[in-house]
Amino acid sequence: MKPGVILAEILEGRRISGEEFLFLYQEADLLALARAAVTIRDRRFPNDLITFIIDRNINYTNVCSCRCKFCAFYREATSPDAYVMGKEELFRKIEEAVNAGATQVMIQGGLHPELGIDYFTDMFSSIKRKYDITIHSLTAPEIVHIAGVSGLTTRETLQRLAAAGLDSLPGGGAEVLHDEVRTRISPNKIRTAEWLRVMQEAHEIGLKTTATMMMGSLDTVEHRLAHLEAIRELQDKTGGFRAFIMWTYQPGNNELMGSKVTSLEYLRMLALSRLYLDNFAHVQGSWVTQGKQIGQLSIFFGADDLGSVMLEENVVRAAGLAYKASKEEIIDLIRKAGKTPAQRDTAYNILKIF
Ligand code: SF4
Repeated sequence: MKPGVILAEILEGRRISGEEFLFLYQEADLLALARAAVTIRDRRFPNDLITFIIDRNINYTNVCSCRCKFCAFYREATSPDAYVMGKEELFRKIEEAVNAGATQVMIQGGLHPELGIDYFTDMFSSIKRKYDITIHSLTAPEIVHIAGVSGLTTRETLQRLAAAGLDSLPGGGAEVLHDEVRTRISPNKIRTAEWLRVMQEAHEIGLKTTATMMMGSLDTVEHRLAHLEAIRELQDKTGGFRAFIMWTYQPGNNELMGSKVTSLEYLRMLALSRLYLDNFAHVQGSWVTQGKQIGQLSIFFGADDLGSVMLEENVVRAAGLAYKASKEEIIDLIRKAGKTPAQRDTAYNILKIF
């Protein structure tokens, strides 16, 4: 079969198989993939909007026992620049975020050996008492870690965190959901099955999540396909993923080093992800790891959202990357791509059209 025939069938509503995904990855014309991805996106969102969110990333600690080889952020507890954030600083950061129009905080950190459930339930409930803000926080590895430190199951941990104010979970810590990759880049991190189990439990208790993928470290296209297969299957079961967010590995200041995937490779995977993940509403383009121009181009490869105007991002910055964009710049990027910019909330409700 020719790539064009498969693309035409996808546009008629047929689900793409893994084999076809690999075939299209190898053979399809990049712009044909882009056109198909945009058609599918525009059918889902005929309103012409491309969205973004204003949020703040807050990293409560950089102490982490996991020591991922791609990570430039973590520190040993004894390191002179190790920290655990106190409430005063946390509140100051949230206050600043609220004043800057943020609707969400993404609180994430290292796997600190001494921070158990009480630290987090206290943190979340005190945030909710003071601020009207969505807490989109803690990744699956953190949930497993907090459960372990606290002698709880992950389901109990999620339930207690949700009761304290956790609204939804980011999909971080997924990297590439294939244990061949995970054992090499993050030997101490939870494996694929555990990440999927925590996500399923979150969905079952009513917490929505996103699904992320960090491509471009030691992964092949087959590994990435396994990732997409796993999240598409779980989404069929639970419908609990709000969005798919793909980042590229940032070589720099870490143990793994290596090289960066090209922008064309990123855009090809982005378009293919839009086509493969037919049960995901939102696919995000990443200007944080790709830069503003490629972030803007992602709109032409099937992205309907540009993620966050972030007030702080320490983890990517630790790898030596410091792309920053203001709300005005993001609005301008979207407008110049011929689309209408809109600010959204965590649940993708439109808050304001520009
Ligand atoms: S990526 Fe996260 S879990 Fe891995 S070492 Fe860095 S902070 Fe720890």
